[in-house]
Amino acid sequence: MNSARRPLIAANWKMNGLKADGTALAGAVAARAKAVGTALAGDILICPPATLIDAVAEALADSPVALGGQDCSAEPSGAFTGDIAAAMLRDLGCSTVIVGHSERRAGHHETDAAVRAKATAALAEGLTAIVCVGETATERDEGRALDVVGGQVLGSVPDGATAATLVVAYEPVWAIGTGRVPTLDDIAAMHRHIRELLAGKVVGGVDVRILYGGSVKPSNAREILALDDVDGALVGGASLKADEFWAIVEAAP
Ligand code: PGA
Repeated sequence: MNSARRPLIAANWKMNGLKADGTALAGAVAARAKAVGTALAGDILICPPATLIDAVAEALADSPVALGGQDCSAEPSGAFTGDIAAAMLRDLGCSTVIVGHSERRAGHHETDAAVRAKATAALAEGLTAIVCVGETATERDEGRALDVVGGQVLGSVPDGATAATLVVAYEPVWAIGTGRVPTLDDIAAMHRHIRELLAGKVVGGVDVRILYGGSVKPSNAREILALDDVDGALVGGASLKADEFWAIVEAAP
């Protein structure tokens, strides 16, 4: 973590939670954040499933915890059954949206161009886009991780993004939900590589926050978040328990 960039700890609830448990979880995080108040070391974000955004917004009211979506359409409105426009997220109080998560790249065949179009739509609505990138186990084993992730960054980040409107999340596919994490050296090398690419691509690119995601837990958060070019975490499984998520928030330097 570099002191010029404020840490961001983001919860990605994925497709988990009904109204009662979602509001209870958000309420528990909001209560802790309110108790700490302005002494909080970083920004906190919760990205619930779309069905819970409205209820979670209410649970987070008057707290410093921000709200985000997990995906948005590249289209502003129209005949796109099941999709959600960036403006709709904005309308419910979201400040941010995750785009290009590997579960969408793999499960919904989203290409870099599709991810870039979604990020562009998010920016046009005044949302911050968290653009996710990450290599598969095979790509890492073949020594191609830096190249693959570099290509995803260059292909998925919109040209008009700035440090204020863009966050990049490095999430190795093989580390998501598996309990496996790259070595600290590998995380540091990848984040440095991403920062160099962003510096050449985006205005103020060196200040873009780069999150690490993939099996972040209270037990490994402190050492990962202490790395120079790691500006926060995108947390899946551990974000579903208030105590674990809060321990990760507190691990931010
Ligand atoms: P995980 O998921 O923390 O459960 O590995 C992270 C993510 O997919 O964002």
